[in-house]
Amino acid sequence: MSLWTQFMDILYPPRCAACREFLVQNPVLEHPTALPFCAACASDFRPITPPLCPICGAPFESTTQDNHPCGACLTQRPRYDAAGAPYAYDGTLREAVYGFKYGQKAFLADALGPLLAAFAKAWIKGKTPQLVMPVPLHPKRLRERGFNQSLLLAQPVAKTLDAQIDFLSLRRSKHTLPQTRLTKDKRRKNIQGAFQVVDASIVRQKSILLVDDVATTGSTLNECTRVLKSAGAGRVYCLTLARATPM
Ligand SMILES: [Zn+2]
Ligand SMILES: [Zn+2]
Repeated sequence: MSLWTQFMDILYPPRCAACREFLVQNPVLEHPTALPFCAACASDFRPITPPLCPICGAPFESTTQDNHPCGACLTQRPRYDAAGAPYAYDGTLREAVYGFKYGQKAFLADALGPLLAAFAKAWIKGKTPQLVMPVPLHPKRLRERGFNQSLLLAQPVAKTLDAQIDFLSLRRSKHTLPQTRLTKDKRRKNIQGAFQVVDASIVRQKSILLVDDVATTGSTLNECTRVLKSAGAGRVYCLTLARATPM
């Protein structure tokens, strides 16, 4: 704990990264790795626990079964090799992600990035990717928002996995409608042809971990994977901080 950090904690007492309440205890001083959420907000996070689908990561209601492919993946297997997320897109986390993306609260990346990195390390074990790629924003949206939330999340993940971050080889070339209000089928059509691989030689035969903030229907991750695999990429894994249940 540096003197500077102690000084800043006195000047700006730590607040919960979701609700902005002052943190009663000072977890930053007591536990340097503590996440800056208050107890009430932290207890509202809903972790995704097994049994789940080893392909798309969807959790099953019944806890008596082992992990097994879900009906949706058996009917139409996603293009990616596996997708995982530590949390359900719900409650406090939903608010935190919303604030992170639309409220200019880029500081939330400091709280949410390490959460995702810790999960990634346990989830990806044995199949460490060579490249970590954030799902890109269209340049127009990047200008409006000022940052790519997926890149802010992907950076600590790449660092923890000791993998190379690559935010240039996959590009969003089509400005699409926001996916939020579209049905699953419309999302798939809306996102089709939105991405391009800039230089296929960089992704060829590489194992890639795609990182995004939220998976709602999986259409964006599937489309990015399609483009990467047609450029010759090897295995593609998808990691999001949260996922809709069901997706
Ligand atoms: Zn809180
Ligand atoms: Zn599945």
